Amino acid sequence: MPEIARKLASLVDRVSNRLIWRFGSRPLNVATTVPIVSFTFDDVPDTALFEGASILEKHGGRGTFYIAGGLAGSVEPDRALISPEGCRELALRGHEIGCHTFAHKAVRALPGRSLARDLDRNAAFLREAAGIGQPQNFAFPYNAAWPLARRELRRRFRTCRAGGEAINRGAVDPVMLKGVAIRQPEEDARRLTAVIDDVAANPGWLVFYGHDVAERPTPWGCTPQTLELLVRHAAERGCALLPVAGALDRLGS
Ligand SMILES: [Zn+2]
Repeated sequence: MPEIARKLASLVDRVSNRLIWRFGSRPLNVATTVPIVSFTFDDVPDTALFEGASILEKHGGRGTFYIAGGLAGSVEPDRALISPEGCRELALRGHEIGCHTFAHKAVRALPGRSLARDLDRNAAFLREAAGIGQPQNFAFPYNAAWPLARRELRRRFRTCRAGGEAINRGAVDPVMLKGVAIRQPEEDARRLTAVIDDVAANPGWLVFYGHDVAERPTPWGCTPQTLELLVRHAAERGCALLPVAGALDRLGS
């Protein structure tokens, strides 16, 4: 290829990549006078239903449960995963069911069309096993975002949550919604009341994520007492306890 043609092709690539990136990145504007706190759970262990959902409901809140259909009903050494009936129950009780892939693989391990197939499979699982419609929101397994998956994810979901350990404020990338972990050690989890104080003082959208809610939690979970402390603290500070979809509706996005 002559030098001039090669330079032109390279320029077209760069410009189109930038345009795709920009169109894919239309920011979500988190502007709110009322602090919003979303409690979310990944995978999801059955204790998040038995304990977590009940604690939220006691304080008038609802949560988002990011389900990976491939894990549902399985029993691991230190936790049991929610059954399809459990997913249905959560939805009936007003909680949001989100998507966490079917295979529970890092998104970068699902190249090409395999991501789309996996997401279709999870949607079919939720529909057939639990009677739940197309999930609106997604959480990255292992919080591992992957830029090449951006278009496919943006096409399907209102938001994709990762980690980031920060409150969402101002212009937020909807494909990189930030989450704050509720995990062991328990003393650290209990100190998250300070993050709630922060969002209450300077309103934004705080998205917590956890896993099991058990008397003997895994390293990625917490006890019912700690979750209760955090949910009560958020309610007492005047935070709206909304699932992710409800928070987006509130933000007008
Ligand atoms: Zn997970």
